[in-house]
Amino acid sequence: MAALTSHLLPVAQVVAETPDARSIVFDADLDYRPGQFLTLRVPSERTGSVARCYSLSSSPHVGDRPQVTVKRTADGYASNWICDNVEAGQEIEVLAPSGVFGPKHYDDDLLLFAGGSGITPVMSVLKSALEQGERNVALVYANRDRHSVIFAEHLDALRARHGDRLTVTHWLETERGLPSAGALVELARPHAAAHDCFTCGPQPFMAAVTEALTLLEVPRERRHMERFVSLAANPFERAERKPLPSRAAG
Ligand SMILES: Cc1cc2nc3c(=O)[nH]c(=O)nc-3n(C[C@H](O)[C@H](O)[C@H](O)COP(=O)(O)OP(=O)(O)OC[C@H]3O[C@@H](n4cnc5c(N)ncnc54)[C@H](O)[C@@H]3O)c2cc1C
Repeated sequence: MAALTSHLLPVAQVVAETPDARSIVFDADLDYRPGQFLTLRVPSERTGSVARCYSLSSSPHVGDRPQVTVKRTADGYASNWICDNVEAGQEIEVLAPSGVFGPKHYDDDLLLFAGGSGITPVMSVLKSALEQGERNVALVYANRDRHSVIFAEHLDALRARHGDRLTVTHWLETERGLPSAGALVELARPHAAAHDCFTCGPQPFMAAVTEALTLLEVPRERRHMERFVSLAANPFERAERKPLPSRAAG
């Protein structure tokens, strides 16, 4: 099997986004596209290491430093290890950015759905679309309660800056229960003519969005989904560690 390339990225900062989510900001000039993810090597006394994918929540188009945002999974290993142990000044081994979740261009309106930590790749797409394009962006964002809304203040600031180009609809389960397909249809209907829909969140949320988009007759080729699952294999076992290539040098 072909060797993969891994890089050591220095951690510049760790940001507590909510009580159970942390952003890991890297001091690195990384070449990536909105919606892509990094695979992180997390040490383990049991297996040496485990590999887990984390979407980049930063945008390469707005001057952000690259960052991933990790939410604790109940009884999860890697997410809790990262939230408990990663500090500024450490280095984390990662595989090159990967994935195809994200628009090919920003010439059309976008409809975005995020549930919980599913906001991470969606945030990267949203910031990029506002910066790179001139079209409208609508986000429907579901969370358990107002304390678990990752990037709440950042979204408020973007709304203030981009005015009527950005619509954000928060759905809080403590107030309205789990979002049903019918409820999502009503929220999405004003934006259903958007060319592409990007969705990321827990499986039941993704199923409800799929049903809603089907009811709204959004063609399948315009629906894009990112599924958060844990890797079973450890690709770092066949990875060759190299310095990060300089972007200026191509
Ligand atoms: C493309 C993609 C993007 C993603 N983006 C994000 C994101 O932006 N933010 C986010 O929060 N999540 C994201 N995820 C999900 C993330 O990759 C993990 O699935 C999630 O964090 C849960 O991992 P976990 O190890 O905490 O939990 P689990 O995988 O549920 O942990 C349990 C597993 O770890 C093993 N285990 C337990 N203890 C040990 C040990 N000591 N040593 C070794 N193994 C052990 C167990 O055998 C079991 O298999 C993404 C997933 C994908 C595929």
